[in-house]
Amino acid sequence: MNRTTRRFAPRRRALRPVRPRRRALARLVAVYILVVGCLFAGLRLADGALAAQQDERPAAQTAGQEAEARKTGYDGPSSAGDWNLVLINRDNPLPEGYEVTTAPLAGGQAVDDRCLADLQAMMDDCRAAGLEPVICSSYRTQDKQQELFDEQVRILESRGLSEGEARAKAGTSVALPGTSEHQLGLAVDIVDARNQLLDSSQESMPVQQWLMANSWSYGFVLRYPSDKSDVTGIIYEPWHYRYVGKPAAREMHEAGLCLEEYRALVSGS
Ligand SMILES: [Zn+2]
Repeated sequence: MNRTTRRFAPRRRALRPVRPRRRALARLVAVYILVVGCLFAGLRLADGALAAQQDERPAAQTAGQEAEARKTGYDGPSSAGDWNLVLINRDNPLPEGYEVTTAPLAGGQAVDDRCLADLQAMMDDCRAAGLEPVICSSYRTQDKQQELFDEQVRILESRGLSEGEARAKAGTSVALPGTSEHQLGLAVDIVDARNQLLDSSQESMPVQQWLMANSWSYGFVLRYPSDKSDVTGIIYEPWHYRYVGKPAAREMHEAGLCLEEYRALVSGS
C-alpha cells in the first residue's frame, strides 16, 4: 500500500456502507411516492365517482319530475313560461315550430297527451254523474283552423257583411289560424249530447253546469267566460275548456281570473 493508496483507502472504506443506505433510502422514497401516488389516485377516483353520482342524481330527479309533470300537469309553482300556461290569442300566435304530441280520443278527436289522463278522469266522472258530455272539437291543425275560419267568413258575408267586416267578426268566434288554442291540443269543446249547438244555450245544460262547477279540479278552466270577453277578445263560449294544470286551474277558479289575467299575475307584470 503506497501513500496514495493509504490516503484514499479510508475514504473508499467509508463509502462502502453508504451505497446500500442510499439504495435503501431511494427505495423508501420510491415506495413512499408510489403509496402517496396510489392514495391520491384513489381519492381522485372516489371523487370522480361521487361527482358522477351527484351529476346523475339531479338528472334522474329532473327526469322524474318531467314524467310527473307530463302525467299531472304540475311541475311546481306556476310560472308564465310553463307549457300548460302557454297563451295563444289574437296578440300571441302559436310559437313558430310548436310541436304537439297528440293522443287520440274516440270520434277522431285528439289532445296533447299531457292532458289526456285528466281529461279522461273529468269525462268519466261527468258520465258517472249521469250526464252525457260530448267532445265536439279538440286538437286542430293549421289547415283545419283555416278551413273553419274561412267558413265563418263566408257565412257572415252571406248575411251582408263586407269581407273586411266578416273577417273581423269571424275572429271573435273562430280564432284566426295560428291564434287558436285548439292548435295547442290543450283545448276541448264539450257540449251536452242533448244540445250540441255552440251558443249561449249551452250554459243551462246539465253537462255545462257540472263542468263549470268541477272542471277546475281536473286542471281545466272555462276559457272564455261571459265577463272576460274584453280581455280575451273572444265571445262567451260556455263549451270551450282549456287545460292549464290543476294548481293553476284551482287558483284561477278561486280568484275568478282568465288565463290572460292569471299569467300577468304569476309573471308579476
Ligand atoms: Zn273551442
